[in-house]
Amino acid sequence: MANSIYENYPPQLTPEQQEFLVTATKDWAIQNGLAVRPSPAILPESANPNHVFATNAPVTLFPSPFPRACFKEAEALQTVYNQLYAAITCNEEWLGKVIEDLIDVDDFVANLWKTHLAVKKEGYVQNLSLGLYRSDYMADVTPNQPPSLKQVEFNTISSSFGGLSSLVKSLHTELLTSPPSYPPHPLLQSGTPPDNTAVETLSGGLATAHKAYGPSKSSPELPLCVLFIVQDEERNVFDQLALLRRLTGFHKIPTFRVKSSQILNETSIPTSDSSRPLIYRPPHSPSSAFEVTTVYLRAYYSPDEYKSSRDWEARTHLERSAAIKCPTVLNQLSGCKKIQQVLAEPTGPDHLTSFLNGVDSSIIARLRETFAPQYDLSTNGQGRDLALNAETAMKHVLKPQREGGGNNIYKADIPEYLRRIPESDWKGWVLMELINPAENAENVALRNDGEVLRGNVISELGIYGTILWEDTGKILHNDQGGWLLRTKGKEVNEGGVAAGFSSLDSVLLY
Ligand code: ADP
Ligand code: MG
Ligand code: MG
Repeated sequence: MANSIYENYPPQLTPEQQEFLVTATKDWAIQNGLAVRPSPAILPESANPNHVFATNAPVTLFPSPFPRACFKEAEALQTVYNQLYAAITCNEEWLGKVIEDLIDVDDFVANLWKTHLAVKKEGYVQNLSLGLYRSDYMADVTPNQPPSLKQVEFNTISSSFGGLSSLVKSLHTELLTSPPSYPPHPLLQSGTPPDNTAVETLSGGLATAHKAYGPSKSSPELPLCVLFIVQDEERNVFDQLALLRRLTGFHKIPTFRVKSSQILNETSIPTSDSSRPLIYRPPHSPSSAFEVTTVYLRAYYSPDEYKSSRDWEARTHLERSAAIKCPTVLNQLSGCKKIQQVLAEPTGPDHLTSFLNGVDSSIIARLRETFAPQYDLSTNGQGRDLALNAETAMKHVLKPQREGGGNNIYKADIPEYLRRIPESDWKGWVLMELINPAENAENVALRNDGEVLRGNVISELGIYGTILWEDTGKILHNDQGGWLLRTKGKEVNEGGVAAGFSSLDSVLLY
């Protein structure tokens, strides 16, 4: 029985043992940058007027067991998933058809599509696109069967926590080994978490794009740089800085963070230059200027970030520039939950085989195996019946076209929610069967306000991948590496760390 692995795990802690682990974790986190800026809910603005404080990222005290076969399968499929989402992005016609229905009911999707059309009309000047992706999964546990890998979702924009999750692997490895800080348990003597190369992989993707950009297009020639576009109130700074530090220190690429509200102040495109280079003038050094090779978005994935038309203007400005976008508007749209539902349709056209030209059919079958059943809510469709019936709704989650956590409707709330909104809006949502996680998994979390929680948990694995491609479909770089484990209380439906639901974790493979 796969589940027996959880028996008496993690071991019970005496108050002294718990205090020791909490202190070790708190201190390690700050010493090594496994940290976040506190939210005003934890530390009021009046107590932190200069914004100098940081606290540990929410983190589990123990690594969580995760089935080795599922982990290996997720790693093995990542470059195929990368290829799939690059191919979807290259097929504007197919993508446009799928999101047509969303455009009617979802202003955010409609505005993204409009941005693409505006730039297309003028003509794109950059034929390369970069993806930094994270494919998220749970191990589905059906009694008396080996656990199977099921995808929760595929992220094509702002895939975060690569920086911090590499650190959690190091933290847990230290607690496991030198000297062991845990009470004895067979699982804790079984080994250490696997290597986590998320920082190397993700920054490697950015560095590859930077090189592929070629020489400066401005005259006179300017030095080249990478820009991270970040949210004005970002608290997950240290995660981003882990990638930035690798780019500047190892790859020797000048890299800067620009707040989304400052894009139009700090960057420009010379009107006289039809190649549309994106020029960055750092406000701290106004006499210097760089040409931007690659724009990495850690912002602009959620409608509430577009506060006015100026934000759409800034997004369009980036999109029409010669910089390589990570992601382009089209690649962002390819990550819509609706696309994932259409790919998972069990009947009708075989989209996977059309997109994954040249990929072995047995690999495509394995990728298909990771899909959980998903439905649209069209009239007379199966999705509608499942969603509106109180009993069947309990096995499902209802998802809109949003990222960043906190947007889904779960189980018993689904029928009531749908009946409250106009039926004409239902096509903006997809219904997905809930993945069944292990029944009796437990862990202890140290939250970022210092609270310690022990209880039944559900873990979600993310695998990172990166791909650089030409709009003709030609792939220049396709790589996978690094992982994230997020663990949340079993009673919690949502899963994001930044959204406050989950804690960062690491894996012990069994
Ligand atoms: P987002 O893009 O906002 O992160 P997700 O699809 O990842 O949207 O959903 C958010 C959270 O909801 C996930 O992290 C997970 O905890 C939970 N969730 C989503 N889909 C499923 C599913 N099919 N089964 C179980 N939990 C799910
Ligand atoms: Mg997402
Ligand atoms: Mg998610």
